[in-house]
Amino acid sequence: MSEFHVGRIALSPDERLDIVGPCAAQSRRQVMECAREVASYGIRGFRACVFKPRTEPYTFEGVGSRGYPWLAEASDLGLVVATELRTGRQVRKLAEILFDHNPNASLVVWVGSRNTDHVNVRSIGRAAAEDSRISVGHKNPMHLKHGAHPDWVGLVNHLRSGGMSDDHVFLVHRGFSVNDDTHNPDGMKNLPNHEVAMRVSEKLGLPIIMDLSHPAGVASKVELVAEGARLYDYRGLMIEAATPPRISEAKTDKAQHVTVAEAAAIIQRDIVARRALLQERAA
Ligand code: PEP
Ligand code: MN
Repeated sequence: MSEFHVGRIALSPDERLDIVGPCAAQSRRQVMECAREVASYGIRGFRACVFKPRTEPYTFEGVGSRGYPWLAEASDLGLVVATELRTGRQVRKLAEILFDHNPNASLVVWVGSRNTDHVNVRSIGRAAAEDSRISVGHKNPMHLKHGAHPDWVGLVNHLRSGGMSDDHVFLVHRGFSVNDDTHNPDGMKNLPNHEVAMRVSEKLGLPIIMDLSHPAGVASKVELVAEGARLYDYRGLMIEAATPPRISEAKTDKAQHVTVAEAAAIIQRDIVARRALLQERAA
């Protein structure tokens, strides 16, 4: 397994990357309120998307680059800022604003599950490779392919071909799309397949974290997804969360936001359960 660098931060094997925050950045105030609470729990990563790929047009598609300075400000709290971008140009622009504001910041850019275009992925890889303060997380593509998931592997290889070094690349599992024939007894929005996720992580030699929120679809199922993931070697969690007054204002994925306090509690339980599992394995 390659080393795991989150921008400037080298994680030791027992350190994790948890990323908590709203689906989308909607205002400077909302971003900063949430970031402050995330930082208060000692969580390393803060997420907020400024671009939201949507199924339908004429819905909220994110505040766009107007939100870059808000992310830069959140980094002042010592948080690694994480956001989904689609092109190398966007990576360069955000990096310029972020690192001009805070040269000590670390940035995580992730490739979303819908953003599986080889050319764009390579352009993200090229841009992110220019600055070792940037790491890239690659979510799984939406649709499941069995085995070692050649599409996911191929996309990550396109990132690498852009010049990304493995120690700044990681994977994110967010479940696979369900259709009418999918066996889905818990009614997941996207169905996790941890075996496939682990196989891809092993094949690529890259660490992987688990996005609990996009499988859950609703806040009440986030813990259930966490329990399922706990038996596998994830290096951290991604959770959509907001400060309580802002949950009802979320314009995207509202139903699956938990409070930041709940996200912190889920992470804490995950840490304890993993420790117990390691001890059990060692015994
Ligand atoms: C998200 O993280 O908010 C998101 C849209 O994720 P995905 O691309 O996995 O659906
Ligand atoms: Mn979302």
